[in-house]
Amino acid sequence: MGTYLRLDDREPIKTNIDKFRRFLKRTFSVELFVGLGVVLREMLKKNSNHTMFYPMEKVNIDARYRGVHKLLRLAESGNERCIGCGLCEKICVSNCIAMDTKLGEDGRKKVINYSINLGRCVYCGLCADVCPELAIVHGGDYEFASEQRAYYGFKEDFLTNIKDLKEQKEFEGYGALPNDADFKVKLTPTTYIKKDQEND
Ligand code: SF4
Ligand code: SF4
Repeated sequence: MGTYLRLDDREPIKTNIDKFRRFLKRTFSVELFVGLGVVLREMLKKNSNHTMFYPMEKVNIDARYRGVHKLLRLAESGNERCIGCGLCEKICVSNCIAMDTKLGEDGRKKVINYSINLGRCVYCGLCADVCPELAIVHGGDYEFASEQRAYYGFKEDFLTNIKDLKEQKEFEGYGALPNDADFKVKLTPTTYIKKDQEND
């Protein structure tokens, strides 16, 4: 049978006096004053400013932050990128995406309604991850508090307004291709590359 090693070699707490002693020790331990010292040092620093005057001042959000979704358009034609494949709806862990599609006169599938229950969404980013058209992405909008638990955003809320198409930049945020995407794609299908080279 193996032997047990006692890692905590402090005396066990048995009486109320022991408890009180431990309380005093923890309350007035050196670490507390170290922490207070750091706070005091930062407070006394010149130009020390750690408080943001929200909502007058806004937080600088990183491009890859997963905020409220956007549905993008193709920059050249202005067509909607979303092809109504339904992958985002299928993968959604919160089951909060709903969409309706129909066959358009041109024989292509059209998305006639697209909604997300933003009160239920957990902003996991899976919808943006699976979208084959880079249509649904996460924007940087983080002000989405609501009085109701069911708080819906609809297609017209997410989709780039056609008159703002020129301002729609190549998206850098969550759901966009990473900068080294080309490199990664080239790395993946090594066997095919070898085959191609043999044929050449
Ligand atoms: S971010 Fe996650 S929870 Fe929210 S809609 Fe997308 S897949 Fe669903
Ligand atoms: S995964 Fe992308 S293309 Fe497919 S339905 Fe969702 S947003 Fe549209």
